[in-house]
Amino acid sequence: MFCSTSFLRYRDRNPNFIQFQLLFLYALIAYVSTFTPTTIYSTTLNFKLTSNNYNNNNNNNINNVHRCKTIAALMAPRSVARLPSDADETETTETMTTTTTTKRLVLVGGGHSHLQVIKSLNHASRPENLDVVLIDSTDRPCYSGMVPSAVAGIYSPTEPLVDLESLAEWSKIEFVKDRVIDIDMDAKVVTTKENRQLPFDAISIDIGSTSRGLIDVPGAKDYTIPTRPISELVRKFEVATDVLEQNNNSNSGKSQPSVVNVVVVGGGAAGIELSMGVLGRWKPIVGETNISVTVLNSYNRIFPDETPANRKALLERLEERGIRVINDATVNRVDPDSLVLESGERIGFTHCLWATGAECLSELVCSLREHGLAVSDTGWIRVNESFQSVSHPFVFASGDCCTMELPGGDRSPPKAGVYAVRAGPVLIENLPRFLGRDGNDTGSVHNADGVDVDNASELELGYCDTSSFKTYVPQKDFLKLMACGDGKGLGFRFGIPIYGKWVFELKDAIDRSFLDLFQRENLPELVPGKQSYDTSQYDASSNRPPPLLSIEAALLLQRSDDDVDFQKAWNVLRDMAEDDDYRDDVLRYIDIALASSRDETACTV
Ligand SMILES: Cc1cc2nc3c(=O)[nH]c(=O)nc-3n(C[C@H](O)[C@H](O)[C@H](O)COP(=O)(O)OP(=O)(O)OC[C@H]3O[C@@H](n4cnc5c(N)ncnc54)[C@H](O)[C@@H]3O)c2cc1C
Repeated sequence: MFCSTSFLRYRDRNPNFIQFQLLFLYALIAYVSTFTPTTIYSTTLNFKLTSNNYNNNNNNNINNVHRCKTIAALMAPRSVARLPSDADETETTETMTTTTTTKRLVLVGGGHSHLQVIKSLNHASRPENLDVVLIDSTDRPCYSGMVPSAVAGIYSPTEPLVDLESLAEWSKIEFVKDRVIDIDMDAKVVTTKENRQLPFDAISIDIGSTSRGLIDVPGAKDYTIPTRPISELVRKFEVATDVLEQNNNSNSGKSQPSVVNVVVVGGGAAGIELSMGVLGRWKPIVGETNISVTVLNSYNRIFPDETPANRKALLERLEERGIRVINDATVNRVDPDSLVLESGERIGFTHCLWATGAECLSELVCSLREHGLAVSDTGWIRVNESFQSVSHPFVFASGDCCTMELPGGDRSPPKAGVYAVRAGPVLIENLPRFLGRDGNDTGSVHNADGVDVDNASELELGYCDTSSFKTYVPQKDFLKLMACGDGKGLGFRFGIPIYGKWVFELKDAIDRSFLDLFQRENLPELVPGKQSYDTSQYDASSNRPPPLLSIEAALLLQRSDDDVDFQKAWNVLRDMAEDDDYRDDVLRYIDIALASSRDETACTV
């Protein structure tokens, strides 16, 4: 592949290419007739299975040559891989003499970053000798950004789902629906819950996180609806809604309608969005006076890292909906119909949502730690700015499950889908490069010395020049958008709040465009050998009109009426992100407006 790409490049530049080709052909015929045929390249993998004859001493061979008829067969429960013999490796044809090895990349989890990797490393774009396998415990993961609005009933329960299996099928990546429970770093073998085993050359982990305290706080798992696994949240919420609707129908005409007392544990973005989503969905069912929603926040104030203007705007939105926030409220225990705080106070509920923020998936992390993988005290996989493990170069991790060790000691980004998404394009470049890419030209990539390292096929596994790796510099701030459960949205960017129907429309557009990237009907027909890696992002924008005047832009961002064109406002936010002077100018006008509105009435953004 590397060879043929070089040929194409040469042909483009050299008018004598045809003569050169003929000469090369003669030389090849002479060569083939002089020697006996040797190993040939085979795209059909012939990995054979027997029981229990896999041997760790033979790892090198396993790493160098993976051959399988189908991965599905290989992954049959309790099967282990037999080492290919020399005879397996050698086949003969009459025309070609090339040697190559197939390398296997295993993707664990189809999270936000891996969705992009699966799409990009499709069969037409990836090196021919790169074999990719995806393992996820679900074939239809749920896109969290749309979940609060699914809870609110604005989206159907299936709208946030990603058809992972179908995406993998399009990409010709083997999909295994199973849960990974162990990754042996010495043997380089993954083990799943159903006791499947799969060797790999490189592995990338994007498994997300779980809800903090769900296991440790007694009763939390039994009596609450947790945010993780997120598709379970949607399902359990639908069940609870059905019950309420049935109760309400059977109560119609009687004097006692259902009274619901919802407690949301967690005062972060997910908890706040869910509290507004529940209210939006259930208030019409039980009536305004029969529902109360309380958010328990473990900090001494809500959103402690946000600006005062953002906090003020948030509290106003909650207050106008009648949502109560209790600060300094850490839950010690959950009983069937109440929870006990650290202070000893007991708070009753009919429904409790557990939205406590991210915690590592301890089951897998324990095994990774035992195998010597560098994991932080809190259980996150330690990676560098290329998403490569700091202890095992053949391990990559991204999204919630990793913590980044950044130059200058900068803090790892927070656990948010936004950062998991931005990791995608970096992994797309680095994973094949690590394995020795063979010929996909995705643009200019140079190492520290300015040398073109695009065709990394020359690199042997384990000798990869990591200076050619793409690195990621996390953005300090990002657009935070929360659905308010009633068709409006609240957002924060550049330290200022934005609010209104247009903010929800903006969130809806962003979320849908991300999901659209992976919908089967939007995926192009693949022509082998023609595609370069697709790293297109949901929010890519070109041909924007010239920026608005700063004062106009400031006024637009502060509007909360229904007539705001969200595209226009989005353009302003993008212009501000790209031009610091423009951003500062717009913010100056907003500061003035916020100051004067503070003098007059309560600030409404
Ligand atoms: C209600 C809610 C709303 C949110 N809204 C936003 C938002 O609007 N914007 C934002 O930036 N962030 C949001 N977040 C945070 C966001 O969900 C996470 O930061 C994001 O999902 C992390 O993505 P990820 O790629 O790390 O993992 P995930 O997207 O969680 O994907 C992990 C995948 O790995 C699979 N998996 C897990 N363990 C295993 C295993 N052992 N073996 C095989 N497969 C496994 C899972 O099935 C899943 O498919 C929200 C969170 C919640 C709870």
